[in-house]
Amino acid sequence: MSASTVGGWRFDLTRIAFIKRLLKHRGFQTLLILPNLFAFVLVILTGLIGTPVGNRNFSIIFTWIVWWALLIVLLIPFGARIWCTMCPIPAPGEWIDHIAVITKGKEQRLSVATKGWPKRFKNIWLQNGAFLSVALFSAIILTRPLATGLVLLAFILLAISLSIKYGKRVFCRYVCPVGGFIGLYSMFAPVEVRVKDPEVCRGHGAKECIQGSENGYGCPWMEYPGNMVRNTYCGMCTECLKTCSQDNIAVNLRPIAVDLFVDKGRGLDEAYKAFIMLTCAVVYSVVMLGPWGWIKNWANMASAPEFLAYASMFLAANLLVVPGLYFLAAWVGKLWAERTPSTASAAPVRVVTPKKFWIDVTYALVPMGLAGWIAFSLSFVFVNVSYAIPLISDPFGWGWNLLGTVDYHWTPYFPAVVGYLQVPILLAGLAFSIFTAYQIAQQHFGARARALRSVIPISLFLTAFTSLFVYLYM
Ligand code: SF4
Ligand code: SF4
Repeated sequence: MSASTVGGWRFDLTRIAFIKRLLKHRGFQTLLILPNLFAFVLVILTGLIGTPVGNRNFSIIFTWIVWWALLIVLLIPFGARIWCTMCPIPAPGEWIDHIAVITKGKEQRLSVATKGWPKRFKNIWLQNGAFLSVALFSAIILTRPLATGLVLLAFILLAISLSIKYGKRVFCRYVCPVGGFIGLYSMFAPVEVRVKDPEVCRGHGAKECIQGSENGYGCPWMEYPGNMVRNTYCGMCTECLKTCSQDNIAVNLRPIAVDLFVDKGRGLDEAYKAFIMLTCAVVYSVVMLGPWGWIKNWANMASAPEFLAYASMFLAANLLVVPGLYFLAAWVGKLWAERTPSTASAAPVRVVTPKKFWIDVTYALVPMGLAGWIAFSLSFVFVNVSYAIPLISDPFGWGWNLLGTVDYHWTPYFPAVVGYLQVPILLAGLAFSIFTAYQIAQQHFGARARALRSVIPISLFLTAFTSLFVYLYM
C-alpha cells in the first residue's frame, strides 16, 4: 500500500502488470463501449418501433430496471464513474470528432471547448435542470417505450452536436443529466484516478495529460490530474494513463467517501444536485410505490390542471422546501456551535457565512441519498427483473423467440427478503451521513463539543428522511 494524499491508505491497481497493460491499451475503452452501444441502439429502436406495452418492450425493462439497478446498486457505489468509461452516448460524437475509433486520431485544442462553452454554464446547473426535467416526466418516460426511445435519441444527438462543435466531453461534463448525479455519488466510491506524486507533475512541463500525445488525448473531461482531489469530474476514460510520459497516474483503491471531506471544489450547484437527488428518491418512492392512487394519476398527466399541481409541488419540494429545511437545520446548528464556550486547546472557529456552512454540510446528504436510491431500486428490481428474460428473445414484443426464452413467465425473486436489505442499507446511509456532517463541522468548529452541537439539527433532518424512506418501504 502506498501513502495516501487524502484520507488514509491507497492501493494502486496499476501495480498489477496485467491491469496496467489493459488500461493503457488504446482499445480498452472502445471494447467496453461497443456492447453498450449495441444495447443502446436496440433500446432506441425498440422504444420507437416496438410494442407500446412497457413490460414487453426491451427499452423499458433494460433501461429502467436492468441498467438502472446495475448503475445505482453496483457501478456507482463500487466503481465511481466506471459507467462513464463504457457509456455509449458520447462515443459516436467523439469518434466523429476524432475521425478515429481506436487509434489516436485528431484532437481539437482544449481552448475550443473551454473558450467556446459559455462561462455561465461551466457548472452543473444544466445537469440539475436536465435531471429535474426528466424526473418530472418520469411517470411517462419510465413506462412508455416511445418516450424512452425519444429521450435517449435526443441525448445521443445532443452529445454528437456538442462533440463536433466543442470537442472534448462537454456534453458529459456540463449537460448529461445522468453524469451529474454519477459525479456527485462517485465521491463515495472506493476507487479513484489520481497522480502518484503531485511533485512530479509540478516539475513536468510537457503535461501530456492536458496536451495529449501520440499515445492518447488530453483529458477529455478537461481535468488536470495533477491537482485532482475528488472523483466528481474524472470520467475514468484512462487517457491520462496512456499519455503520461512520467508513469505518474494511479488507479487507487481507497477508503470509501473520502472525497466528501475535501473542501476544494464544493459549490451551490453540487449542493443542489444532492438536494434534488434526495428529494427525487422520496418522490419516486411515493409516486411509484406508495398507496396513493391520486398522486400517480397527477404524475401520469391524467389532466392538465392536475399535472400542473404535481409539477408545482415537485419543483417546490426539490428547489425550495428540502433545501430550505436543510438550511434551517444547518443555520441553527451553526448558531448553537458558535455559542458553545470554547476550551483553551480548541482550534479556532472558521468564520464562514451560514450559506457556506450550509453548502459544505450538504455533502453529508451523499451517503443517505445513495442509500435511498439503492433501497428504492431494490424494491422493484427483484420483483421485476424476470421481465428481462423473455425480452432477450423478443425485444420488440413482436412475438419472436430468438433464444427460446419467450415463454419465461414473470417471477418475482425473493420478495420477502427485500425489506431486510433496505432497512440496513438506509440505516447505514443515515449513520454515514451523520458521521460525514460531523467531520465537515469539525473543519469549521475544531472543538468536538461545538462540532457535535452543530450537527444535532442536521441529524434530526437526516433521521426524519430515513424514517420516511422506511415508512414508504415497509
Ligand atoms: S503528464 Fe503525467 S507527470 Fe506530466 S503533468 Fe500530466 S500527470 Fe503529471
Ligand atoms: S483525469 Fe484521466 S481518467 Fe480522468 S477523465 Fe481525465 S484523462 Fe480520463
